[in-house]
Amino acid sequence: MISFDLKCIHDHVFEGWFRSSGDYEEQRGRRQIACPVCGSADVAKAVMAPAVAAKGNRRDAATAPASIAMTSGSPDQAKLEEMLGALAKAQTEMLEKSQWVGDKFAEQARAMYYGEAEQAPIHGTTNAQEARAMMEEGVPVAPLIVPVAPPESTH
Ligand SMILES: [Zn+2]
Repeated sequence: MISFDLKCIHDHVFEGWFRSSGDYEEQRGRRQIACPVCGSADVAKAVMAPAVAAKGNRRDAATAPASIAMTSGSPDQAKLEEMLGALAKAQTEMLEKSQWVGDKFAEQARAMYYGEAEQAPIHGTTNAQEARAMMEEGVPVAPLIVPVAPPESTH
């Protein structure tokens, strides 16, 4: 058995089960598939948004250190994607004005967000769990495109 998300001409989306893809085509051709909402036989496969697969091995992703930066304003998905396309150059330029705080990132970012410290661009490391927690709290953080090595380890 195979299931398809189907949509009638009135935009009613429903699930249909068939023996095979060919079975679906055949039933559709004979107008035997009817929308359960309006009864229309003018149905087609609904175009579903593709699921975005996470890259790489996620096994230790929750606890592994990840490079992260504090951004100004609220996180904006389109901007993030644009940033991803701009590669490491943009990141390097951005980080020139940003202070490396290492594993103190979460602490510092929260202090700034809650007004306990002066706002300044910072970047450092934190783990995915902490990053998610900060995003849920509304702290404007974003993952860095290119992992940044701590300054003390680059020489
Ligand atoms: Zn319908």
